Amino acid sequence: MPVDAVLTTRDPEVDRPPGRPAPRSGNRTKRTKWRPVKDQSKFEAQLDPGFAAEIAAEVEGGERLHQCIQCGTCSSVCPLSAYMDLTPRRLIAMTRAGARDDVVHSMTPWVCASCYACTVECPKQIPITEIMHALRRISLREITYPKRFTTPVMTKAFVDMIQDRGRSTESWISMKLYLRTNPALLVKNAAIAGRLFRQGRLGVRRARINGRDELRALLKAVSA
Ligand code: SF4
Ligand code: SF4
Repeated sequence: MPVDAVLTTRDPEVDRPPGRPAPRSGNRTKRTKWRPVKDQSKFEAQLDPGFAAEIAAEVEGGERLHQCIQCGTCSSVCPLSAYMDLTPRRLIAMTRAGARDDVVHSMTPWVCASCYACTVECPKQIPITEIMHALRRISLREITYPKRFTTPVMTKAFVDMIQDRGRSTESWISMKLYLRTNPALLVKNAAIAGRLFRQGRLGVRRARINGRDELRALLKAVSA
């Protein structure tokens, strides 16, 4: 059975961010940018029926997403929904429907600013912000994040460095970030980096803690 009705139905009035004009009736334009995947799920066979349970297991109170009434409050209060490929309301609907592939490839969790407005206003007390965080973790684990988008690339560089050395070194994280997203910025900001280095405000030596083996064992234990 085609699942377009479940996955792509939008309520333009509810999902419409403040300031954006209402679409003309009968002429609903589709988003052309930041699609979660090139080939969005269209058939029931592409869905993962266990996805909602997977999220519920990751997030305290996550099972409440089954109580979503699709009121759209989360989308209307979200200050960043205009920049998301899936509004919070739609992301919750797609999670319930099991559109795992689309959701874990979405930009939305990486655009979310963790302001908690949606969580506070949700009439069903669904922990939407925590669900966004869980989706980020899955996206980092499975490397489904947008490859040249600053937020996930920086998060991955930071997490990798902490897991490996126990401390972060800003200069190395910045270098990795620029090389993976926009190498031209590395050249552009080289003079500033040089000034910071001469003033002793930017180190190039990678910091590390003693007892890195214990740290790795601890991280492995908590992520098991
Ligand atoms: S505010 Fe809560 S109940 Fe309403 S659409 Fe969003 S998640 Fe669902
Ligand atoms: S926590 Fe994220 S999704 Fe929720 S309102 Fe804030 S920016 Fe939007």
